Amino acid sequence: MAIPAALPQSLWAATAPAGPTLAPLAGARRAEVAVIGAGYTGLSAALHLALAQRSVVVLEARSLGERASGLNGGQVIPGLKTDPDELEEIFGPERGARLAASAAAAPDVVFELIARHGIACDATRTGWIQPATSPAALAQLGARAAQWQRRGAAVELLTARAVGTLTGSARYCGGLLDRRGGTLQPLAYLRGLARAVLRHGGGIFAHCPALHLRRAGREWHIDTPSGRITAPAVIVATNAYSGGLVGALRRSVITVPSFQVASAPLTAAQRAGILPGGQAASDTWHLLRYFRLDAGGRLVLGARGAFGAAPTPRSCRHHYRAVREIYPQLEGVAFEYHWGGLVAMTPDHLPHLHELAPGLLAGLGYNGRGVAMATLMGRLLAQRTLGMSDAELAFPVTPLRPIPFHRAASLAARAAIQYLRAVDLLTRARERLRGRASWT
Ligand SMILES: Cc1cc2nc3c(=O)[nH]c(=O)nc-3n(C[C@H](O)[C@H](O)[C@H](O)COP(=O)(O)OP(=O)(O)OC[C@H]3O[C@@H](n4cnc5c(N)ncnc54)[C@H](O)[C@@H]3O)c2cc1C
Repeated sequence: MAIPAALPQSLWAATAPAGPTLAPLAGARRAEVAVIGAGYTGLSAALHLALAQRSVVVLEARSLGERASGLNGGQVIPGLKTDPDELEEIFGPERGARLAASAAAAPDVVFELIARHGIACDATRTGWIQPATSPAALAQLGARAAQWQRRGAAVELLTARAVGTLTGSARYCGGLLDRRGGTLQPLAYLRGLARAVLRHGGGIFAHCPALHLRRAGREWHIDTPSGRITAPAVIVATNAYSGGLVGALRRSVITVPSFQVASAPLTAAQRAGILPGGQAASDTWHLLRYFRLDAGGRLVLGARGAFGAAPTPRSCRHHYRAVREIYPQLEGVAFEYHWGGLVAMTPDHLPHLHELAPGLLAGLGYNGRGVAMATLMGRLLAQRTLGMSDAELAFPVTPLRPIPFHRAASLAARAAIQYLRAVDLLTRARERLRGRASWT
């Protein structure tokens, strides 16, 4: 079988340590649990199951790291998009509080796995910054910080001056520092998880798409082009790349492209003052910009990508403009990498854990916060597979709800994104006219 070799030409593919050699499945095999998809969700689930002495195999349609888990910004973000007070309103005080606490602790799961399994992935835990682009956004961050502080979390509201010092940008009017967050090299982390799965007896097969899934008696049969897996329990971890295998899963999320650019390594003079504490940042524009330095001193900036276009210097010109706005001192710096992938958004902005049929689980929909959340979801899926009840689980098991008129909804989401882009552009143009290019 011909195996396509190359990963997308990302900064991460150029700088990650080599991953394990993985082949497709050959023939028939039985396992206690089969996992479909080798991103963070699938590999974290497989690792937690292998650590619990279960025989587990993972099927991956492509090369390891070709999809979101090998491409993302490597920002380890605590919590969900929904703030803890609202979670308690939605799910009730006990369940909501548990859900908020476990999502907030998701970075702990990541950094503990990295430490326990000795994963070399440039992990740092100096915090995550949300710089505010307007006084209204800052007021919202103030409410968020207060909610977390009431729960004893290391989250603080920052003045414009403090954000200026932490980011090296005068562009923001304040912000929030969440010390529970951090950064990592995303592909190195993924490859490290894969090695840990293999070391603990799990199997991973790459270039091995699950084509059909069917239940016969108490077993599930998964057919691939080169063999079949039989298992009583299956975890579907295909997230934004869910295809027709479980069509309703694909229709339960809206996928949007996110592109990133990485500069050439910055000189000491260019780098002076830029993110000196090594934090990552995601700002509060409707179409947010997220940025950080990598271990080699390159600026990595991501933002919403163009629908239907590949990430190229041309399709990433908004990214260059964003860099000039945030860091005018980097005018003229060269950009050496352009890449991108798909993000799965849910209508309620929450990740979803579904039990699709007896022995068939799925977890997806991290709304751009999957480095920590997908790792946590993998652990939740493993716990559920091992028999944890819905009441004991930190996240609720919810019914799968395909989005009605999914195609039309996807088109409406594109239109909404264009509208929000226009709102952001107008706001920035108005600020320039008023001469407000900086807040400090
Ligand atoms: C450009 C970009 C930047 C991002 N930045 C951040 C960030 O900084 N911080 C953050 O927290 N989150 C970020 N995210 C989101 C984060 O990367 C994802 O939420 C997370 O990686 C999801 O992991 P996953 O395992 O669920 O999905 P994936 O990593 O997408 O894995 C799913 C896997 O399933 C496989 N698959 C699909 N169908 C089949 C099949 N039939 N058979 C076998 N395998 C199959 C796919 O090939 C894929 O490898 C970003 C995402 C993108 C695209």
